[in-house]
Amino acid sequence: MKTIKYENYKKPSDFMGFVEGENKIRIVSTGVIGFQHVMKTAKRFINLGICSEDENCENCRKGFEPKRIWKWMILDYADNRIKILDAGPMLGNQICEIASISGDPQEYDILVNRVGEKLKTEYTARKGESGEISEDIKKNLEFSKKRLTNKYLKGSK
Ligand SMILES: [Zn+2]
Repeated sequence: MKTIKYENYKKPSDFMGFVEGENKIRIVSTGVIGFQHVMKTAKRFINLGICSEDENCENCRKGFEPKRIWKWMILDYADNRIKILDAGPMLGNQICEIASISGDPQEYDILVNRVGEKLKTEYTARKGESGEISEDIKKNLEFSKKRLTNKYLKGSK
């Protein structure tokens, strides 16, 4: 159990949600790239699940086109929790470009600026400070990653 901090309260979730303005994260896993099925409604995207990228994918058989996604496990400094980041091309490409210049993104923070809402959301990512994450976070890191993997990423390619 953890004491609730009201002053910077963020709705708990296992998935990273960026607030308007600056967000600070630290990537804590290798990245994967894949395909996910999403349905676009007037207001938002609905997640239909990972595409198996073969003839067994039910969504592909229905004629739904999968979207490319980038996935990492990250530390969200806002509430110090380990979460899954599902990034679309806009953010996914920027993070990979930063990493292609600066090296393994597990060694520095990434600052993500979010502007706009819903389907008009725009992200700008830049490199933040380097250095180790706190001992407190490190202590629970493997356990948190295993929990997320077992809950959401089992069987995904
Ligand atoms: Zn599919």
